[in-house]
Order: sequence, then structure tokens, then C-alpha cells
Amino acid sequence: MIQLRCSTCQQLYPADTRAFRCNCGGTFELVGLPAFDRRAIDPAGPGLWRYRQFLPGNRHWAEVTLGEGWTPLVLTDLLGQAVHCKMEFLSPTGSFKDRGTAVTVAMLKELGIDAVVEDSSGNAAASLAAYGARAGIRVRLYVPAHASPAKLRQIAVYGAELVPVDGPRSQAALAAWQAAATTYYASHYFNPFNLAGLRTLAFEIVEQLGWRSPDHLILPVGHGTLLLGAYQGFVELRQAGVIEHLPRFFAVQALACAPVFAAWSRALDQVAEITPGTTVAEGIAIAAPVRGAALLAVLRASGGMVVTVDEDEIRWGQAALARQGLYVEPTSAVVAAAVRKLDRVIAPGDLTVVVLTGSGLKSERV
Ligand SMILES: [Zn+2]
Repeated sequence: MIQLRCSTCQQLYPADTRAFRCNCGGTFELVGLPAFDRRAIDPAGPGLWRYRQFLPGNRHWAEVTLGEGWTPLVLTDLLGQAVHCKMEFLSPTGSFKDRGTAVTVAMLKELGIDAVVEDSSGNAAASLAAYGARAGIRVRLYVPAHASPAKLRQIAVYGAELVPVDGPRSQAALAAWQAAATTYYASHYFNPFNLAGLRTLAFEIVEQLGWRSPDHLILPVGHGTLLLGAYQGFVELRQAGVIEHLPRFFAVQALACAPVFAAWSRALDQVAEITPGTTVAEGIAIAAPVRGAALLAVLRASGGMVVTVDEDEIRWGQAALARQGLYVEPTSAVVAAAVRKLDRVIAPGDLTVVVLTGSGLKSERV
């Protein structure tokens, strides 16, 4: 039986709780999921649902799926460095968020929930709007008024209710937290079902590499849900004896908004809120990640680090990937800039995976 457990005080909550965090303020993690077992994979299951034995809400996957997961892993050459690109921007709504959303919405079906609220800077909102439309769940989204017009249009076209909120990203979050008093809060960064879905990124990478773990995993970090979900997946694979070692996790942040780097570079074990500058990498412009302590713990445990990239480097990264035929949004392009900066860390012959999280078509400003 799955339950939610507070990551701060360890208190247990039933899976159908309407609380989005513990009374103590701590974030929830999911406990009681089945252990990973290669023999339980369904090769005929579409997308990430080949791993449905290990996913919550799996009785409802067929009503929810848009074909998310099992994105290609493509070997490219980046500055002479062989790098495997995990093509998450090919997901149904153009970003990796669909992994977590599909599993969350499958769980909503199981819990009989027909209306939700959420706040997002764009990709998570578009994803939830699409899966809400697919599954017949009403979605109200609080978005920063300054979000990319292309992203706002994408959210609106799925039929979600859009509530623009003036001010920084954190104001949209506050509005959603207030709405959560009366409506289920399907938060992509608080909701543990979302994290459970993101574990499948690790399962796929390892399976696509022939059941090997990469040496380095490089990914953009805002709230860091993808990093935390993937880490949990890799830990499960190691516990199951499928891989012998975890990859080193490299969290890439925009220099203009780098709270995790600020904490990491001072060897702190909590991430404090910062005053963010502006960055083209809007998807990771998060001033106060809600699972900061967990992020720092993963970086430490895996022997990884935080890499910051400035605006020029991000634009360089976007162009460098485009010249390989990969058109990703600036938020995703930070990983290419990071590969260039890590040239002394990544040795020739190392197995390196970068996660290309979102489509370049989303960042068009018209
Ligand atoms: Zn607690």
C-alpha cells in the first residue's frame, strides 16, 4: 500500500490526503512502491507505462496516456565530446513534465478527483492542461503574467482556465497555495506522484544504454524535481542489482538565478531563497526550490556538483545544439553550456547523458 511520508518529521499520511505538504511544512515522499524488477517490465506497454508495475495510479493509465516516455537517446558530438542526448523535448506537450503529469493524473483518476489547481512558469502548466483535457479533469492554472506568450497560448488551447498573476514567479505560487485550501493542488514540485513518474527517466536511460548506468548525468535544475525523481530511480536500480554505480549528478543553473549553487558553494545543507535576476532560462528561474535540502544531499551523495552558466553561454548552448539538429528552449540548452565547462571533469570515453528537457518551439516570442 502506498502512503505519503513527510521528508522532515517522517509522519505518514494516506495516499488520498488533500494536504499538499505536512503540517510541519515538510514535503511529502511516496513510500510503499514495488521494488524494481526487470522481469516485471511490460515491453508491450506504451512509453513509460512499460514500467507501470512500479508506478502509482497504474490501473488508469490507458485513460490518461498521450504516449509519454520512452523518448530516444541520441548520441551526438558536442565540442568533440561524445554525449548522449535524452530527447525529452519530444514528449507529447514538448517537455519532460509529461512523465510526472501522466502519473499524477492517473492517480487523480484513482482518487476520483475531477478538478485541480497548479502554478507553473509554463511547461508544467501546459502539461497538466493537456492531460486534464485528456482525462476529463478541470484545471485552473496560476501563471506569471510575464511568461512566454507561446507557452501561455499552448496552455489556453487545451481549455484550461488561466489566471495570470503579476509580479515574480513566487506570487503565482502563493495564489495557488491559497486556492489549494478548497481544490486539489496538483503541484509539479510538491506532489509526490509527479516525482514517482519522473523515476522512469532513470529506468529508460539505463535500459537504453543496455542496462548500464551513465558516468555523468547533466540536467537543468530549478525546483530540481527531475533530478530528484531520476536519482530515486537510479537508487532503485542499484538496490535491485541492475546497476553497480550511480551517475554523478550535475545540476545546471542560470547564473542569474542560482540558489542551489549559492548553497552548494558555501557547503550549506539548506537552500536559502535568493533575489533572482532575469534569465532566458525561465523554466529554471526558481528563487526558492522547495526540496533544496534533498537536492544538495543528492549532489553530495553522487559526487556531483552545481554548474552555473551565464546568458551568453546559454545562447551559445542553444546554437550548438541546434547545429546538431536539436532545437531546444534556452532552459534546456544550459546543459550544452555545462558540458563545455566540464571539459576537465568529463574524461574521454566517459558515458555522459544530458537531458534535453523542453522544445525550442516553446520559447518563440512573437
Ligand atoms: Zn512533517
